[in-house]
Amino acid sequence: MIEEIKKAQQSFKNPLVTNRLHVRLVFLILKVWYWWYAFRLYKNPIIAVKSLNKLEQLKVRFFGRKTFQKISRVEDGYFWMAGGPKLFSPSMKTFIKVGLHKIIPVKHQKNGLQVLFLAITRKCPLRCEHCFEGPNLARTESLSVQELKEIIHHFQEKGVAQIQFSGGEPMSRFDDMIELLESKKSGTDFWLNTSGFLLDLEKARILKKAGLTGVIVSLDHFEEDLHNAFRKNNDAYRWAMRAIEAVKAVEMPITLSLCATSEFITKENLFKYAMKGKEMGVTFIQLLEPKQVGFYENKDILLSEEKKKILRDFYFLMAFDNRYRDWPIVNYMGYHNESAGCLGAGDRFLYINSKGEINACPFCHKNYGNIKNEDIDANIMAMKNESCPLY
Ligand code: SF4
Repeated sequence: MIEEIKKAQQSFKNPLVTNRLHVRLVFLILKVWYWWYAFRLYKNPIIAVKSLNKLEQLKVRFFGRKTFQKISRVEDGYFWMAGGPKLFSPSMKTFIKVGLHKIIPVKHQKNGLQVLFLAITRKCPLRCEHCFEGPNLARTESLSVQELKEIIHHFQEKGVAQIQFSGGEPMSRFDDMIELLESKKSGTDFWLNTSGFLLDLEKARILKKAGLTGVIVSLDHFEEDLHNAFRKNNDAYRWAMRAIEAVKAVEMPITLSLCATSEFITKENLFKYAMKGKEMGVTFIQLLEPKQVGFYENKDILLSEEKKKILRDFYFLMAFDNRYRDWPIVNYMGYHNESAGCLGAGDRFLYINSKGEINACPFCHKNYGNIKNEDIDANIMAMKNESCPLY
């Protein structure tokens, strides 16, 4: 197994595409693809143009700029943001269809989602400082495989571009996760949020074969001791590194996820973190702000404006400054939400926790009933009407 990883490391080709012409060409083709798809959906060019223009405005507000200067190419597919859908794929169609439908309704289209965060387990070997599911972690599961399948099918039937498995640690429920992946329908990408626990080369291969699209590995510090201290387990860093190498070896897109705490945030630390990602050949980094939920409930962990500015400046440098063209693509969810408004709360995404409770997002825990015994659509509608209290 180690030999195989070594071989894969030697033949590894960094998926980041930085060639200007190549990137421009992909986005040009994407633009044409958008027009073609919108025309097909609306069957009316004026409505299609109107709806696409509004979607474009939302995208500019979300990212802060109009054009991108790098993109990731993994095997035969392109990806442009952390956890975003594969370009030109069936899930990209769902993503655009859901987005357009929110702006100007598309005939026969149901109210779908762009992302469903689905916690498939309450089990986890770690007890991370910031865990938003912390108080829900337990030995026994609340949702059976059959119930999880029904949830996935319910949302796929409405249209969902992406489902992100979380938990707990989804790898604790590996066989069930494979069963879920094997029972999915087309039109949705599936991503795994993991600490790296149990994720070796063999499991990465099985996951890919079952239809997993990509993996988000939590890495909360570039220094082993500090990551382990944050995750309260001396093996956590080793697991994360092994998982990254395994996912790279089977050629799936990979995102590093950082909970950027106030103590962590300095310009220097952020650059060191991104350098770690760059050296490992990781294309995406997502920056998450600590929120007062789970183990952080009632704790004094919210970021000051000064710290948020450091994150914002770092995001803009990595995303748009030519000097960092060959560094990982960074997404800063706090910035995106603040500038575009909340897209969660059942609007474009929502979160079902490990007990089956419907929440606005992983960081906003006002729940709207339990998926097992209540009318899902009515509860989502109630959530949408109240919208997000944070952004
Ligand atoms: S954050 Fe994730 S890995 Fe850490 S304790 Fe919570 S569920 Fe487990």
